Amino acid sequence: MTKYWAEFAILPDGLARNVTFHIEGDVFDRIESGQPQGDAHRLPGVALPGFANTHSHAFHRALRGRTHSGGGTFWTWRSRMYDAARRLNPDNYLTLARATYAEMALAGVTSVGEFHYVHHAPDGTPYDNPNAMGEALQQAAREAGVRLTLLDTCYLAGGLTADGHQPLAPEQRRFGDGDVSAWAERVSQLWDDATTRVGTAIHSVRAVPRAQLQEFVQYVGQGQTWQTMHAHVSEQPAENEACEAFYGMTPVELLSEAGALGPNFSAVHATHLTGADIASLGNARATAAFCPTTERDLADGIGPARELLDAGARLSLGSDQHAVIDPFEEVRGLESHERLRTLHRGRLSQDELIAAATAHDTIGWSEAGALREGAKADLVAVDLESPRTAGVPAEFVLTAATAADVTDVIRDGDPVVSDRQHRLGDVGRLLTEAIDNLWEK
Ligand SMILES: [Zn+2]
Repeated sequence: MTKYWAEFAILPDGLARNVTFHIEGDVFDRIESGQPQGDAHRLPGVALPGFANTHSHAFHRALRGRTHSGGGTFWTWRSRMYDAARRLNPDNYLTLARATYAEMALAGVTSVGEFHYVHHAPDGTPYDNPNAMGEALQQAAREAGVRLTLLDTCYLAGGLTADGHQPLAPEQRRFGDGDVSAWAERVSQLWDDATTRVGTAIHSVRAVPRAQLQEFVQYVGQGQTWQTMHAHVSEQPAENEACEAFYGMTPVELLSEAGALGPNFSAVHATHLTGADIASLGNARATAAFCPTTERDLADGIGPARELLDAGARLSLGSDQHAVIDPFEEVRGLESHERLRTLHRGRLSQDELIAAATAHDTIGWSEAGALREGAKADLVAVDLESPRTAGVPAEFVLTAATAADVTDVIRDGDPVVSDRQHRLGDVGRLLTEAIDNLWEK
């Protein structure tokens, strides 16, 4: 039994003072109020649940700061992203992802959903182990101390125009498995363990044509462990225009027709939705995985967060391309983009913001995400006396703190970050080495 004590903690029913967490194995055995007992580890500031980063492409971390010169669009950004993707192999991906996940841990992330589509060698040939890249990501997360769901992504076509789907371009060949059954055969060789799980993803309606979408949904419905299904949805107007032109319907309508929508489905971005799309996602109790720092960086637009919640959908948050890895910034982005969009303040409640930041169940970890007895023992301690947080009431820490204010992170009862130090050492150096190595190749 390990004990932690915090002067403030954000419990499921709100802020509490003087809280002791009794951890047995990887779960909270008891949570009780009272002054610290002698053998309890004292956490500074306010204790929060671990954050869930529900949408990540680990290798995009190598693009940070390298895509801003010369203006451009989402589509010119994408060509730079392909330049990074073609340099990856199982060894350098392990190194880069480990450092990226360590950066997430330092920021208070305890679970990540990795939307993984760089499967094969650059020419599209499978590695000797066809899951060498996915297993590198699993290993990276284990070593970095972050729970991972490998959202193994089906990617079959190179794009969509009014004339239909294009074949994979040369730089996309390594993403593709050829067809849904080959994708399923490969993914069936991946296994869950204590801290990694396997989920599924459709890259987008651009990358998976209508007939294969339906086949995919049938396969996933049969899988015992593949209950989580994510897809990029309506991030850019061009996707909607192509989908309307070729299929005569929106991406959400196409996914709905295929049977994809349901409580286990997450629509990533969900930026450009019609009223009917919002109603469909809400009726299905699906989740919209917003990535505010990415959506503003890529000039995607602002999704209808309030309307989705009101329709019955849920929200989660991801750092996607990792222009920033800071769950506080994503939470503030969610609320502040709503304010800019509507000219009203207070669009989402504190409870709604915390729910979005801790939606571990939307990536398959329903036993994590709250400071309650029986839940996975994740704790994030946030300094309330930093230059950023000094004077901020503990219950409003999300409005002011940054990743730099996270002092301690415990995941499944294990300390991963202590006194702002990750257990792997200097994360800035790990990132520098991994990124320099990738671009020098
Ligand atoms: Zn993405």
